Amino acid sequence: MRPLAALTLSPLLLAACGPATPDEAPLRWLKGNTHTHTLWSDGDAAPEQVASWYADNGYQFLVLSDHNIYQDHERWFPVAEDGVGRLKPSEVDELITRFGADKVELRGDAGSREMRLRTLSELKAQVDRAPEGDEGGFLLLPGEEVTSSFEGRPVHINAVNTDGVLPALQRSSIVELMSDTLRSIEEAGAAAGRPVFGHLNHPNFGWGVTWEEVAAVKEDRFFEVYNGHRSTRNQGDSEHPSMEALWDNALARRLTADTPFPLLYGVATDDAHHYFGNLTSPTGRGWVMVRAEALDRDLVTAAMNRGDFYASSGVTLEDLEVTADGYRLRVKEDGDASFRIRFIGTRQVDGALGPIGEELMVVDGPEAEYRFGGDELYVRAQVTSSRLHPQPYLKGDREMAWTQPATPGSR
Ligand SMILES: [Zn+2]
Ligand SMILES: [Zn+2]
Repeated sequence: MRPLAALTLSPLLLAACGPATPDEAPLRWLKGNTHTHTLWSDGDAAPEQVASWYADNGYQFLVLSDHNIYQDHERWFPVAEDGVGRLKPSEVDELITRFGADKVELRGDAGSREMRLRTLSELKAQVDRAPEGDEGGFLLLPGEEVTSSFEGRPVHINAVNTDGVLPALQRSSIVELMSDTLRSIEEAGAAAGRPVFGHLNHPNFGWGVTWEEVAAVKEDRFFEVYNGHRSTRNQGDSEHPSMEALWDNALARRLTADTPFPLLYGVATDDAHHYFGNLTSPTGRGWVMVRAEALDRDLVTAAMNRGDFYASSGVTLEDLEVTADGYRLRVKEDGDASFRIRFIGTRQVDGALGPIGEELMVVDGPEAEYRFGGDELYVRAQVTSSRLHPQPYLKGDREMAWTQPATPGSR
């Protein structure tokens, strides 16, 4: 290993470090998914069904990110009495049994019934619950999937912690479309006086967004390193990079710009559409673990904005620390599973860029420490479990975690 260089870390990184000091609120890890669909757009389940699944399965927060819509108005959805359509009569019966007849509003005659979709404020009253001490709790965060395209290439960006629908823009290039959409999200946050962020979804879906375009958009600070929907091509192909290769290429270019661009953080999401056995995009494939002061929409969002979170498809970290010395993490034990921890980064030595996404260190075991050498543009960690994902995106996928890139301050 190279000798430890004298480093100073940016306030951004220091904010992401270690346990709280005594006069600060203690931090807790919160499990969340920022990308899900319901009957409000193209999901196949009622929103209370979706929210309840996450509330009952160990998550603390969820964004119902329907396409270009907010769940804030009256909307009646046809019941598929003939079996053709997304809201089956059997689901209506199940909703009544599960949540009570007073929570399921129907109108129309037999054969042409419609059900009113629950609004976000109704859903929050139904599923949000306060933590007990430092445990549990559940919170719906507002958001949407701002869904647009340029020349047939999809550009989908999730707005998180924004209130009210944002316009799906039309622009003359992918870069302009991404920039302006992300700017409109930031402006909505500034107007509301709240932290917000946008994350670029599934760049490889429809081969929508290239790594060069991700690198060129200064406003882009988040992207999906893992999306659970099987059409999103996380793994790339012979002509397109995987999401991890896209990440490394974009980071290397962004951090060597004349004025370096912000780091790019990776999120994992379900992008769930299917709740009744269709394995195209079910629940529970990918999520984020966020270290925040409390289960609060603004605190969770602010923690993600400062990079204090990691993405996971099954691996849980017990601790994660970025200090002046480097990068440390410890994986939570999981029965007889074993772990491989890889520190991945790109170095710049005497002005020359090293290999993109170089494997800087590999540790077999549940904990590892990487000491910055000082010539890294960034370092990130990837953890792979020996355990197979129980409901994989691709057959043979193992459970993983991805931490955020960290940059030595001496760069
Ligand atoms: Zn999408
Ligand atoms: Zn989606």
